[in-house]
Amino acid sequence: MDQRTQLFILIVAIAIAVAALLLSLRRQRHDREATTGESLYATSSEGQKRCPSCGAYNAWTDRNCVSCGRKLPG
Ligand SMILES: [Zn+2]
Repeated sequence: MDQRTQLFILIVAIAIAVAALLLSLRRQRHDREATTGESLYATSSEGQKRCPSCGAYNAWTDRNCVSCGRKLPG
């Protein structure tokens, strides 16, 4: 095995290691974003208000709950 082949193998090994690291970082960030998005969705619902009596989601423009028909606050 000559020196050039050894160097080539070393570069390939480093490239694979860097690629694996980047993929791992990207997956971790993706997981975090997915979790954050889920919790945000659970706590706040943009453009919607929740019925205090039955918990159904209604549009901000709705005056009465689409599910139980009760008057919505706000
Ligand atoms: Zn309701």
